[in-house]
Amino acid sequence: MNRKFLWHSLSVDETLKKLKSSMDGLTKREVEERRERFGLNELPKEKPVKWWTVLFGQLSGPMIVILAIAAFISAGLHEWVDTGVIVAAIVVNTAIGFFQELKASRALEHLQALVQPHAFVVRDGKEVFLTAKEIIPGDVLVLKTGDSITADARLIESIDLQVNEASLTGESVPISKSLEPNNRGTVLAERTCMVFAGTAIVGGRGRAVVAATATDTELGSIAQLVSDTKETKTPLQHELGRLARWIAGAVVFIVVALFFAGLFTGRDITEMFEISVALAVAAVPEGLIVSVTIILAIGMQRILRRKSLVRRLVGAETLGSVSVICTDKTGTLTEGEMQATKFSFLDKDVQLSEMVGKTLTAGPKKMVEISVLCNDASVAETDAEEIELRGSPTERALIDAALRVNTDTKKLIASHKRLAEIPFDSEYKFMVTLNEWKGKENRFLLKGAPDIIVDFCDQVEVAGKKKKLNSTQRALIDQKIKELTSGGIRLIACAYKPSKQSQPGIDKSKLGGFIFVGFICLQDPLRPDVKKNIMATKKAGVQTVVITGDHPRTARAIAEEAGLYSSEENVVTGAEIDLWSDQELEKRVGRISVYARVEPAHKIRIVRAWQARGHVVAMTGDGVNDAPALKAADIGLALGSGTEVAKQASDVVIMNNNLGTISAAIEQGRVIFDNIRKVTVYLMSDSFTEIILIGGSMMLGLPLPLLPAQILWINLVADSFPGVGLTLEPGERDTMSFPPRPKNEPVLNKEMISLIFVIGIVTDVLLFALYFWLLGSFDDLKLVQTMMFAAVGIDSLMYVFAVKSFRKPIFKINPFSNKWLILGILVGFGLMLLAILHPFFQEIFEVTSLGLSHWGLLLMIGLIKLIGIEVAKWWFILKKKRA
Ligand code: ATP
Repeated sequence: MNRKFLWHSLSVDETLKKLKSSMDGLTKREVEERRERFGLNELPKEKPVKWWTVLFGQLSGPMIVILAIAAFISAGLHEWVDTGVIVAAIVVNTAIGFFQELKASRALEHLQALVQPHAFVVRDGKEVFLTAKEIIPGDVLVLKTGDSITADARLIESIDLQVNEASLTGESVPISKSLEPNNRGTVLAERTCMVFAGTAIVGGRGRAVVAATATDTELGSIAQLVSDTKETKTPLQHELGRLARWIAGAVVFIVVALFFAGLFTGRDITEMFEISVALAVAAVPEGLIVSVTIILAIGMQRILRRKSLVRRLVGAETLGSVSVICTDKTGTLTEGEMQATKFSFLDKDVQLSEMVGKTLTAGPKKMVEISVLCNDASVAETDAEEIELRGSPTERALIDAALRVNTDTKKLIASHKRLAEIPFDSEYKFMVTLNEWKGKENRFLLKGAPDIIVDFCDQVEVAGKKKKLNSTQRALIDQKIKELTSGGIRLIACAYKPSKQSQPGIDKSKLGGFIFVGFICLQDPLRPDVKKNIMATKKAGVQTVVITGDHPRTARAIAEEAGLYSSEENVVTGAEIDLWSDQELEKRVGRISVYARVEPAHKIRIVRAWQARGHVVAMTGDGVNDAPALKAADIGLALGSGTEVAKQASDVVIMNNNLGTISAAIEQGRVIFDNIRKVTVYLMSDSFTEIILIGGSMMLGLPLPLLPAQILWINLVADSFPGVGLTLEPGERDTMSFPPRPKNEPVLNKEMISLIFVIGIVTDVLLFALYFWLLGSFDDLKLVQTMMFAAVGIDSLMYVFAVKSFRKPIFKINPFSNKWLILGILVGFGLMLLAILHPFFQEIFEVTSLGLSHWGLLLMIGLIKLIGIEVAKWWFILKKKRA
């Protein structure tokens, strides 16, 4: 059982024999024995991040390198205090950065582990649902449209199976598969009796026995370790990386300039060197990059708690700027649990409840037969001997209806073998099968969207009699469709046709001559919270658009109920869109809230039209054909119940399918962006303030307000803790009361840059005022510097409350909403007090004890600064309101 073996040249029987398996799959004992032998069906993953790599990454950062050089030089100059503080700064910063980064990468690894493909496998004659890694050679895979294949396998059953093998061979046209063996020398791309790991089924169904797993597969052998969730840096990470580098450059330039300015004004070179290093290190917002990573990772975990799985880091970021949600109807707006309520014929309607416990009459009997036999849902018995239906909501509802009227579905299926089929597809909206009909001619059974089905019929059954489908009958059918759909009901029309055909293969283009039987009415109530959710997203400036394959009247009725419909102009059909050019669609797209009878291909046009108008579009999808639209959208949202193919094309998986979950994910996306902004503004205004304070004092020929060791202590030790706390901000209550952030708006937009300047200037005006007053009032420079040290340190610990919200004044927010921030501030305060009060540190930092009045003054200055910043914020808030 190895990869080199030419499985494709063996017949089905030979393969099963060689693999020591059977159509019933492996037995429990064989599974256990083989599991040991073959191990897990996994390709070598990227190794989990090791702690020492993270540590090394931290230690080799430019800031640490600068600090280390500074420590060496300070030690060479016998400046032991500075050396000690710098070493302490290295330890604290490396530790904080290390733990943050390790936590972020562990969180991301955990999320990736959740994105695992699954497969249906036959073992001991029963279908079981396994994760892909549990699959072993000899297992029988059950394949159906939309599945991604998880191992290399030889087909043992194939009904119109079509596989997209682009990931392996580059060929994007689906390959038709069959059971006939291929020649020994057949190249990979032409091995039509095999399916390969990493490819996807785009049509038909079948079974295949696994021949190779893990690295033995073709995918494994080309070592193309395609990890779908592989993380590259997101645009924001790039933006902030660039920003940090730019700032570092600017700071170095300024500091060098200050260094020479200092020398020219006659300061000591050693002193100037120390100040320059302290200032450079203090002014570079080194925590920025790691903060962004941690905010994204925490954000993804929070989104997961709200039942969405972000598959790509970039998704977490983009969610926040989504301005249009294009959603499916079934399951997202509605409960997704369809129920058949009645069968409707041209002459009468029969409620399902009336049929329970009775012998079915001819019409309903035919409908039940079509519902069960022309259906791809499966009935599985669980261990608890309960019945579990698997398949699309529509098909499950049809089987459920048959079971409710006491049909033995198993027996029915066994006695009418399926000979050929065209499975349902949203593109053509019908399904047809050819079944054996004992003692009579075989039969084509057809079910699908009524307007499509009628076109295949030339007769209609009325009260058990066949009639020609003339214009009168057609008008009757149309009338019936109109009546039934206006209540938001999904209609499935059923038809049949006797046939002599007994070979597989149905030509879609030649379908015709069917006999129309009637409609099955399926009800799927709106989710109770949908209206509220739509209103909430509307308030957040996010428009919701419904895209459905259903009849326009059904769609309209549901949209009306959900509060999405206001006039006839809001609803269009796929056929109408086909008549419009892209420009025309772009012009109208803003007014359309319901698209009915669309095909998957229309979805891409709708996405592009919105995007052309500058919107950020989130699109839901579940089928194989939805994959291109999911990729084209800014955020592809796969439904949890959707196919593997859709999930792999998406950025986010909505695990419970609910529209409410989508808006919760968008909200968290906004919180992520807000928090990145808060941390950036906090770190940068700190840097800005200190540059001005030190640079200004030097320019003015004043003594230094802060000593190098003090600068380092404030920035690298005390302030680091609230910075970390800020990354964990919970999000403000009004996050969803504002329009989305415009696409590509930078973290530091004009408003934020102004705010950084304002905060810096307000702080510096106060600090300089204090400094002048202190210099004028006290002769003791040590006391003055102690006061300045305390003032700068305490200020930055206090104003962090102001950046908790850029939209609301401080008295309107709960300052204690983030316990980590409070803890960070307390630790910061503790460290400041330690430095000023403890005799050991007093000596190190060259500070002296402060009296109660001094502390009172400092606190007051902190408060005045906070008020100053609040006034500036208020001005921005007002300006924004007026705009
Ligand atoms: P929604 O937005 O509600 O999820 P959809 O876009 O998935 O809908 P489709 O599944 O494409 O809609 O269904 C379109 C129409 O095709 C339905 O109105 C129904 O009449 C018919 N239909 C749906 N599922 C099946 C099926 N399994 N077999 C036959 N016909 C079907």
